[in-house]
Amino acid sequence: KLTCVVVGASHAGVNFAFALRKEGWQGQLILIDADPDLPYHRPPLSKTYLSQMEESSLSYLKAEETYARENIQLNLGRRVLSIDREARTIQLDDGTEQAYDKLVLATGASAWVPEVAGLEADMPVFSLRNAGDVRRIQVQIGKKTDQRAVIVGGGFIGLELAASLQNMGLRVTVLEREERVLSRVTAPDLSHYFQKLHQSNGVEILLNQELTRIQKTETGLLLKTKDGRGVEADLVVFGVGIRVNAQLAQQAGLDVSGGIAVDTSCRTEDDDIYAIGDCTLHFNRHYQRYLRLESVQNAVDQAKVAAAAILGKDVAYDAIPWFWSDQYDVKLQMVGLSQGFDRCVLRSEAEHSFSLWYFKAGQLLAVDAVNAAKAYVWGTKYLKSQAPLDPVKVGDLAVDYNSFLL
Ligand code: FAD
Repeated sequence: KLTCVVVGASHAGVNFAFALRKEGWQGQLILIDADPDLPYHRPPLSKTYLSQMEESSLSYLKAEETYARENIQLNLGRRVLSIDREARTIQLDDGTEQAYDKLVLATGASAWVPEVAGLEADMPVFSLRNAGDVRRIQVQIGKKTDQRAVIVGGGFIGLELAASLQNMGLRVTVLEREERVLSRVTAPDLSHYFQKLHQSNGVEILLNQELTRIQKTETGLLLKTKDGRGVEADLVVFGVGIRVNAQLAQQAGLDVSGGIAVDTSCRTEDDDIYAIGDCTLHFNRHYQRYLRLESVQNAVDQAKVAAAAILGKDVAYDAIPWFWSDQYDVKLQMVGLSQGFDRCVLRSEAEHSFSLWYFKAGQLLAVDAVNAAKAYVWGTKYLKSQAPLDPVKVGDLAVDYNSFLL
C-alpha cells in the first residue's frame, strides 16, 4: 500500500487529508503537526476566541472521531525535522523516520517578531498565530482587564486583536509604521474607514510610528518610537506579519524564494512532493501573476486541487481569492485583489453598510463589502463571469445588483 504523509495539520493539511480520502485514496494517510491541539480554525483566535475567556473552547476543523472513521492517522505534538528526497523519508523530532510515496507540505507560516532593541524573553510581549499564543495572552490578562495593551502593526490580525481587547475593557493603542492601517491589504478608503471605526470605539491609532526600543519601567513597559514618542503598556502584541515555514523545503533543495514554489496542481519541482496553503508561491491564472496568499480560502482550495492531482486528475488551481474580517459589529468581506486599480466606485447604503468596487481599464478587479453581504455575493458572480460592468450603475443605489452589466 502507498503512503501519503502530510506535514502540517491545519486548514490546508486537514482539508487535504479528507479530500484525498474522498477522491479515493486507499493507502495509508498520516497527518503530522508540531501543535498538540486537535486541529482548529485559526480565524476565531483573534476574534471571538480571545474575548470569550471563560467559556472559550477551540473550534475544531473536524470532530476527533472523524479522523479514525476516515482512517487518517493523526500524529500531533511532533515536529518534522528534515526530508530525505532520495530515500523518500522524513525525520521526526522523536528520532523516528517515516517513509512516504507522496509528501504534502502544509507547513503554513509563523508569526514574525522583529528584533527590537531592549526586547527580553521575560517581557509580557506576545504574537498571535496559534492556540498556545492566545492562552499566553489570556493568562497575562487574567482578571485585570483594565490593562494597557499596545498592538504593534495595524494589519488584519492587529486590528481584530485591538477590537477584541477593547471589547474586553483593555485600553488599546495600535502602533502602525505606515501612514495608514491595512496598507498592505486594502485600498486607502477602506483603511480610513477602519481607522475611524477603531477610534470611535476608543482605540488609539498612532500612524507613521516605527517601534525602535522596548524597556521595562516601574509599572510596566515603555515603547519608544523613531520620532521619540514613548507609549506605556502592560502588554504588547506583535501583529506585523508572518514568515513562511519553508525551512523543510529549503533544506530538501526545493525552490522557496518567496514561498514554496508550486505549479497549478500544487506540485513542487519534485513529482512526489506537493505544497498547499500559506506556505506556497503559486501562479494565479485569473490575475496572471504569482501570489502568496494568507487565507482559509486558498488553503482549502489548494488542498482540494492537490488531492485530485495526486489521484491523477487533470485539475488546475484557478480560484478568485476571498477573505473576511470581523471587527466590533462590522463584517468585511473581500473578493478579488484590488492592487493596481484605476477606478474605485463606492456603493453606499449607510455609514456602516457599503461596498467598494475596484476597476482596472474598465475590468472589475475586486469588491470590498462592509456589512453588505449582497455586494459580496454579486461581486463574486461578476468576477467569475468577467462580464463588463457599467461603473455608473454600480454606484447608483436605484440600480439593483443584478443590473450592473454594460
Ligand atoms: P497554518 O494554519 O499556518 O498551519 C501550518 C501548520 O503546520 C501549523 O499547525 C504548524 O504547527 C505546522 N508545521 C509547520 N512546520 C512543521 C514541521 N516542521 N513539523 C510539524 N508541523 C509543522 N484567514 C482568513 O481567510 N480569514 C480570517 O479571518 C483569518 N483570520 C486569521 C486570524 C488569525 C489570528 C490568524 C493567525 C490567521 C487568520 N487567517 C485568516 C489566516 C488563516 O488562518 C491562514 O491562511 C490558514 O491558517 C492557513 O492554513 P495553512 O494550513 O496553510 O497554514
